Amino acid sequence: MNKPLWLQTLSNWVLGEDPHLRRHVFLLLITLQPYAVSVGVIMHSEHLKLLEPHMAHELIVASVLTFLTVFALVRSGWSQRFADPVLTFPHALVTIALCMAAYAQLGDNRGNVMILIAQTIVLSMFRLKPIQVLMLGVFTVITLGVFVVWTAFGVDAHSNASSGWTHFVVGGSTLLTLSLIGKWVSDIRVRIGRQARELQEAVDTVKQMATCDMLTGALNRRMMTELAENELKLVERSGAPMCIALIDIDHFKHVNDHFGHHAGDAVLRSMAQHAQGQIRQVDKFSRWGGEEFLVMLPSISAIEGMNAIERLRQSIETLEIPGYPQLHITFSAGVAQAKVGESLEHLIERADEALYDAKRQGRNRSLLAQTDLKAPSSASNASSSETMS
Ligand code: GH3
Ligand code: MG
Ligand code: MG
Repeated sequence: MNKPLWLQTLSNWVLGEDPHLRRHVFLLLITLQPYAVSVGVIMHSEHLKLLEPHMAHELIVASVLTFLTVFALVRSGWSQRFADPVLTFPHALVTIALCMAAYAQLGDNRGNVMILIAQTIVLSMFRLKPIQVLMLGVFTVITLGVFVVWTAFGVDAHSNASSGWTHFVVGGSTLLTLSLIGKWVSDIRVRIGRQARELQEAVDTVKQMATCDMLTGALNRRMMTELAENELKLVERSGAPMCIALIDIDHFKHVNDHFGHHAGDAVLRSMAQHAQGQIRQVDKFSRWGGEEFLVMLPSISAIEGMNAIERLRQSIETLEIPGYPQLHITFSAGVAQAKVGESLEHLIERADEALYDAKRQGRNRSLLAQTDLKAPSSASNASSSETMS
């Protein structure tokens, strides 16, 4: 359901429009709840006369200013440059420091502060690195210790040292345990994140292996068959033209025999890479097997298909194979236009017959399947209009 316009405007104003920024600002806004509780505790303590009014006001102003500063840094997008744009770690440190300042002043109400610190650690553990969660716990225990020593030497007139020590032992050990649990949770979170990334990579690799040929990176036979079958259905429904071309590298055995198998592989890779750069985006290029490639050219007629393959054939004549400057290749091709209701098998058979004929006529040429011949139908480096015999 669409949000009302005023709500949309308000949320854009508070959170921003960029989806990443919105998420980060939203995560920061979650910390508003402990801020609200702290301010409530401070006001309540002031009301109970456990806290001097000027001290209460200073603590409230410090809390509000801390939140507004972090909000401004996140909402303005300034913090996007950091690994954690929500600024969780510095924010948690400042929050704990503020809590400790409140703890030092709150007298009998200070037990609540421990809960707020615990809440800060729990909220942080879902974003921080394990070691940072532990650092928060250690920081809390150290500041708590400093405060206890401070009161033990009688600097703080409001507190008695014995309750300070009790808090230090009970509160400090509880918070330390909590931060250890937080570290453990954070460890698990990091591990699950890494496993999810590895799983995604494995899925991508499997998808790549299922659809692409490993050597050339071109579509594999299985994928091309699927795409061509779908395209044929479209031809049947809409009557739109569609061509295929079966391409076979000439004298490829000779390449392997004289330059080695590595050279042959380099030829296949270069050929595939070059051809994919030459064809239109809607065209599909696949390795059909060995040194044979099948190209699918949707929405074009036999003559246009022939022209496209001819352009490709001519450009291949001058293709340079990396590492083998003296090696030049050519190919022969058979082109066929799909007929309405024709099976893929039959269409390929017609293209294969034309390819066979191109080979027989001397190679380095493209021929149109005989059944598609209506106009001048073939072109080659030797002649501009040859037909199948
Ligand atoms: P033609 O002009 O008649 O097509 O002659 P050709 O030498 O190309 O003949 P053919 O199609 O029979 O030869 C195909 C060769 O391709 C045989 C095979 O060893 C080689 N081949 C098939 N797959 C690969 C491959 O992945 N890498 C390499 N280097 N060679 C391959
Ligand atoms: Mg072959
Ligand atoms: Mg060949």
